[in-house]
Amino acid sequence: MSAEAKLREIATELADRHVNRILALEKEMLEIERRKTEVQSKLDAANLANDRLADYQIKVGTDCPRCAIDLGRRIPLNPIPSDERFVDKFRCRVCGLEIDLPA
Ligand SMILES: [Zn+2]
Repeated sequence: MSAEAKLREIATELADRHVNRILALEKEMLEIERRKTEVQSKLDAANLANDRLADYQIKVGTDCPRCAIDLGRRIPLNPIPSDERFVDKFRCRVCGLEIDLPA
C-alpha cells in the first residue's frame, strides 16, 4: 500500500466514525429540544404564579386555588358532604382538589 493510500484509508476511517455518530447525535439533539420545551413551560408557569396569586380571589366556595395558580383558570369549588360538624368540604371538578375549611 502506498503512503498516499494508507493516509486515505486512515482519513476514511476517521470520517466514518463521525458519520456513524450522526444518528445518535440527532437523537440526542431532539431529546435536548424536548427537554428545553418542557423546562420552558415550567419556567413560564413559575413566572405566572405570582401574577395569578395576585388575581386569585379568596372567597369560600368560589375558585379552586390549584387551578387558579397552576392553570390560570377560574374553576368553582363545589361543596361536598361533610361528616364533621365544624368543617365544610369542597372539591374541584377539574383537578379533584379537596379542601376542608372551618365552617
Ligand atoms: Zn382545581
